[in-house]
Amino acid sequence: MPAQVVDGRAIAAAIRREVQAELTALSAGHRPPGLAVILVGEDSASATYVRNKAKACEEVGIRSVQIHRPATISREELLAVLHTVNKDETVDGILVQLPLPPHIGERSILEAVDPAKDVDGFHPANLGGLLTGHPLFVASTPLGIMEVLDRFRVAIEGRYAVVVGWSTIVGKPIAFLLLHRRATVTVCQKWTRDLDRHTRLADILVVAAGQAGLVKGDMVKEGAVVIDVGINRANGRLVGDVDFASVSPKASLITPVPGGVGPLTVAMLLKNTLVAYKARIGLPRQP
Ligand code: NAD
Repeated sequence: MPAQVVDGRAIAAAIRREVQAELTALSAGHRPPGLAVILVGEDSASATYVRNKAKACEEVGIRSVQIHRPATISREELLAVLHTVNKDETVDGILVQLPLPPHIGERSILEAVDPAKDVDGFHPANLGGLLTGHPLFVASTPLGIMEVLDRFRVAIEGRYAVVVGWSTIVGKPIAFLLLHRRATVTVCQKWTRDLDRHTRLADILVVAAGQAGLVKGDMVKEGAVVIDVGINRANGRLVGDVDFASVSPKASLITPVPGGVGPLTVAMLLKNTLVAYKARIGLPRQP
């Protein structure tokens, strides 16, 4: 039987509606939530991402504050900007659009974000929390993957999951999220020998390698759940890390590219901002 294909845009729209409904209910008697988005330099892709995030915020009732600084800004000046938004009582979430110019040093900037406002989940305190199972925030792409698995009621406990890619923003966090849900997890990277030996055993296969068409049909078990995180440009169009044509006939569930995990990333950022907001106005994290 051909795979069920995940409609990430529809799930993202549902999440946005849920966030909007909760914010509308909270709007009487509370200030609006605020997300500060810090953009450094003139990278056009980064500017587009920031614009999209700001638009998504406005649509659900989150006030977005865009802070744009030139690429020549010094680390100290950028740290001062962060200090200001950390202290600002009307700002619930902060995100620093990456990449930053090399002279700034990303790590020092990400470490300067207040962990309670770190809606991107990149602060070491939140990454450490992911290890112990109690992060304040988890990066939105791995959160979006968990949302797909849960909305499609994919059983995780006791199943074998293989994650291809070990970046701090996707591979490592999704591996830990799956571990905490009691999957047995193998993480592969570009030095892994015989990648297919691992992927072929996976009940749940998450691919975040940034290599167009890396995973082919003969590398996937019959009935596997396949999550393709990759976004690659090939011959003028966007393609994933999974060869959809050969994998989808074997998988039971698959996320396409585009329209799979991608749209969920911004939706989960909005959800994280809602969580940060509720915490700051003294409400419990869960509705
Ligand atoms: P990254 O470059 O930081 O990490 C890639 C990882 O893949 C590395 O750990 C590397 O060892 C591994 N890898 C590379 N080639 C491999 C191979 N041949 N076999 C096995 N492992 C291999 O990338 P990232 O930031 O994690 O992003 C990965 C992909 O996901 C990219 O295409 C990126 O554009 C995409 N992405 C999508 C979203 C989204 O919203 N859908 C968010 C973040 C990243």
